[in-house]
Amino acid sequence: MKILVINCGSSSLKYQLIDMENENSLSTGLVERIGIEGSKLTQKVEGREKYVLTVPMKNHKDAIAHVIDTLLDEVQGVIKSSDEIGAVGHRVVHGGEKYSTSVIIDDEVMKDLEEFSVLAPLHNPPNIIGINACKELMPDTTMVAVFDTAFHQTMPEKAFLYGLPYELYKENHIRKYGFHGTSHKYVSQRAAEMLDKDLKDLKLITCHLGNGASVSAVRGGVSVDTSMGFTPLEGLLMGTRCGDIDPAIIPYLMDVKGYSYDEVNNIMNKKSGVLGLSGVSSDFRDIEDAAAEGNERAKLALDVFHYRVKKYIGYFMAAMNGVDAVIFTAGLGENAVETREEIISDMEWFGIELDREKNKVRGKERIVSTDDSKVKVIVIPTNEELMIARDTLSLVK
Ligand code: AMP
Repeated sequence: MKILVINCGSSSLKYQLIDMENENSLSTGLVERIGIEGSKLTQKVEGREKYVLTVPMKNHKDAIAHVIDTLLDEVQGVIKSSDEIGAVGHRVVHGGEKYSTSVIIDDEVMKDLEEFSVLAPLHNPPNIIGINACKELMPDTTMVAVFDTAFHQTMPEKAFLYGLPYELYKENHIRKYGFHGTSHKYVSQRAAEMLDKDLKDLKLITCHLGNGASVSAVRGGVSVDTSMGFTPLEGLLMGTRCGDIDPAIIPYLMDVKGYSYDEVNNIMNKKSGVLGLSGVSSDFRDIEDAAAEGNERAKLALDVFHYRVKKYIGYFMAAMNGVDAVIFTAGLGENAVETREEIISDMEWFGIELDREKNKVRGKERIVSTDDSKVKVIVIPTNEELMIARDTLSLVK
């Protein structure tokens, strides 16, 4: 069976068609600037030139129609009939407390997703738009929702509750949810395979370091804690998000600077993180280049970022009474040799030692700790699309 994986953002859409007979990716694509001038679809198929289609796409339905046309195209396509698409797996950011696993989408699920939009106002609405567009264009195809929050639903109360009045949890659902679950789950499973161990016997700390970043504690294959919280703002410093701050800073800024709610929100989400500290960019490559040229604030931003990741590794080692492997994934985790070096430096006391030569790897699976290191350090490129396709297949079957 072939499964189409869709990850819908507010003005963009990523897709991948995967043949589940062999888990091969048949085509990957990105649609950008949906509803904005200059809409563009880019598709990659192994062994072929990249295909770019520039055509107006006024909404997500237009965009998905062009995705299907492209997949079916005589020259650029990879399938002959839309019937070959056995099911569609949708990445959905928030599944609230109700969904701890993936689910076939029906009317009740759609109603729940609408309800959870208050919890993820930036992410769930475009996910819903994408699902509706697919349903209109492929009314007879099964749709599955795979939630970013689901993997973390195994966290115990002591990890997910905030020190706020309990009623705010019960009545307003204010708690830690955690995100990037599909990625943390995928790399945990791969780590067990690479170590030739049963996942049930492992304590893992998974570091998903991309533009958005989070660290998770995974014990026996289930998430027991994670750095992101009620929203993806908590935890690590990110490209533009501040991560953990003293919550009292918010009313202080409103008082002293006269900032509105929107301004504070914008600062914390869009103007902070390594962008805010460095004043250079939200892209780690630009910051690394600036630091290499002697830019002190760029160096500082990287220092703060590395220190925060190190701190979370420490929290989670304490939470699990040890760790068997620390895993690095996502844009930065997979590629940034120096980032891993900085984070894993001075951890010999914990039995974690990086092999600097082995660590010179980008975008490939590899154990990068020394042979003697008690705790393994592993680089694993994430594959959220494959994880979504696997969940979709198991539900359709
Ligand atoms: P993601 O959100 O997973 O796509 O990750 C994006 C982030 O990864 C960006 O900040 C990139 O600068 C960073 N990144 C990607 N490749 C590299 C690399 N080779 N070295 C350093 N950072 C990288």
